[in-house]
Amino acid sequence: MNFSTSYSKINQTNLIMRKLFILSALLFPALVFAQRSIKLTSNSVHSHFLEKRKTIDSAFTIASALLSSEEFQSIYTNLDFPYWNHCKVGECSADKNHTGPETTTGKEVMNLLFKEANVVMTIDLKKRSRHALGATCPGNYFTTAYYENILKDMPHLPYAYAIAVNLCHEYMHQVGLCHYSNSFQEPDDEHPDPEGFKNDVAYNVGWNAYYIATKWYVNHKVIPGL
Ligand SMILES: [Zn+2]
Repeated sequence: MNFSTSYSKINQTNLIMRKLFILSALLFPALVFAQRSIKLTSNSVHSHFLEKRKTIDSAFTIASALLSSEEFQSIYTNLDFPYWNHCKVGECSADKNHTGPETTTGKEVMNLLFKEANVVMTIDLKKRSRHALGATCPGNYFTTAYYENILKDMPHLPYAYAIAVNLCHEYMHQVGLCHYSNSFQEPDDEHPDPEGFKNDVAYNVGWNAYYIATKWYVNHKVIPGL
């Protein structure tokens, strides 16, 4: 037996195995998860900021970072939602009578969310509403936000973070996803309506953005551009 030959063969095999391992370690995450990014900014000419321009700019930066994070996107890898989340064409309401596919996948939701990479939204910042935190109709690039409602809803977050969470939610309406109902039964301030969270994409996105934003704020996460 030629020991030196078999030793070098073993060495060669080891080297190939090691190279394959490194290659698969590098490639595998890219195959299972492709992170995408979006940059939301406000239209400075047509927006109405109630003298809170700097805070609103920060909110858009935080919202862009939230939506672009792997933390956020990975949530939707294996989720399915009812198809009615799609808005009726040209309207601001859910497609309740749709007769096609019954579900829309998290992947389809992410495709809608990232169909544009640079988006300029006009924001109308108002003081208070009786019911909502904000309002957006699909494809209008226009969102209304009620800052007193938003602050009251997320009292533990700084203003820019709370507005950012709301922007993430509202942007889902911009890309064509609507609510079936606006009635949610939340057990307390820190937990969503279970049915709404399970079925309503925009509601789900709002809560997940809230959880991530809270974690980032508590951990002093550095957000580029902020
Ligand atoms: Zn909404």
